[in-house]
Amino acid sequence: MSTALSTLAEYARSNPRSQAAYERALGLFPSGLTHDTRRQDPFPPCVTHAEGAYKWDLDGHRLVDYVTGHGALVAGHSHPDVVEAVRRQAGRGMHLGASSELEAAWAERIVRLVPSAERVRFTSSGTEATLLALRVARGFTGRDRVVKLAGHFHGWHDDASPGVALPVDPAAPVGSPPNPDLTVADPFAPGALEAELARGDVACVILEPTGAAWGAVPLPPARVASIAEAARAHGTLVVFDEVVTGFRWSPGGAQAVIGVIPDLTTLAKVVAGGMPGGALTGRADVMDALAFREGHGKVEHPGTHNAHPLSAVAGSATLDLLADGSGLARADGVAAELRAALNAAFEARSTPGFAYGQSSTFCLIFGERTDDPVALKGGVRPPLASALQCAMLLEGVHLFHGCGLLSIAHGPAEAEFTANAFRQALERLQDEGLIP
Ligand code: PMP
Repeated sequence: MSTALSTLAEYARSNPRSQAAYERALGLFPSGLTHDTRRQDPFPPCVTHAEGAYKWDLDGHRLVDYVTGHGALVAGHSHPDVVEAVRRQAGRGMHLGASSELEAAWAERIVRLVPSAERVRFTSSGTEATLLALRVARGFTGRDRVVKLAGHFHGWHDDASPGVALPVDPAAPVGSPPNPDLTVADPFAPGALEAELARGDVACVILEPTGAAWGAVPLPPARVASIAEAARAHGTLVVFDEVVTGFRWSPGGAQAVIGVIPDLTTLAKVVAGGMPGGALTGRADVMDALAFREGHGKVEHPGTHNAHPLSAVAGSATLDLLADGSGLARADGVAAELRAALNAAFEARSTPGFAYGQSSTFCLIFGERTDDPVALKGGVRPPLASALQCAMLLEGVHLFHGCGLLSIAHGPAEAEFTANAFRQALERLQDEGLIP
């Protein structure tokens, strides 16, 4: 054990203004936070501005950003095309309170790019998109039951709970009533999911097509295909939650990569180019559960900010940047190099651990290599989680709970900087006796 300051103390010493901002926030927000996943000991960084692959905190540190707007900013922070589109529209009306050509232009891009997209409805978030998906599936099938997969996250409405975002407290959440129409099935337990579907009363099965937490717990494409097949055999709709993977795994999302086409797809994050927004898209006949038809009940879907003009233009500009796939392919390549460099760092310091991930993402796990879903979903555990986060921030890198989502603005230079930062962080954590 060295006599140097602990990682957390060193972080506190070099971030006095973020600490003061946190103390102010404690008097305003429960736990001083506006998003549960921003929790960090001793306090989270307070960020002032961002550009490209970088952001800057209140104490003046430049950080390579791997949160990238919780995955929304695959085009990087404040891409000039997106900024210009928003700037122009802001002067032409923030909310038109009417139909507009902006929403049609935005939807046409989605229909062009996403294989399952025939009709679209816009929402204000991913949570709203999955809420609408379940409602449409229930309205279309006339069935009440919904099956979700263990560990898969679909936002925070009661029908998506228990959500188990990253990282979780051991205590069970309170405030959501028991939901007899929601079943959580383990996709790896032989026959368990199939048995639920065989009851013939399931409206839809909703899942992240890459596996839980954007592939942190990988679900093999063959398993996704077999789930879809079993669902269809029993009249159950398949909903892919592509809130993270949409327009990131490929211009057509994960479904275009794995070749399984769902009935419905939920989108958010990238689709709105960094503005709040989401969408439900899918088969025209299923989406028509939302249509006004003489003599038929319909699925209700109001929402003040549906198809918000600023989200429409930011989303359209972003999708145009991604549509040919070349930027995404480059980001995937940089992420692959980064994963290899992070693994080399583990090896160089003889620290048990590994980096892995799909597409333009990575995750770190400390300990022996494993494919145990619980270990993978758990990620980097406390107290190491905060120490790693602080150690990387001290080196100029902002991780997202031991993981990262790259953008097309991240290049080899940022990957190399990050790998160096990780080597330094490992040394610090070893010196402190937090890792072997
Ligand atoms: N689905 C998935 C797969 C997500 O990762 C998230 C958010 N991280 C959501 C839904 C909810 O989206 P939002 O935060 O926009 O409500």
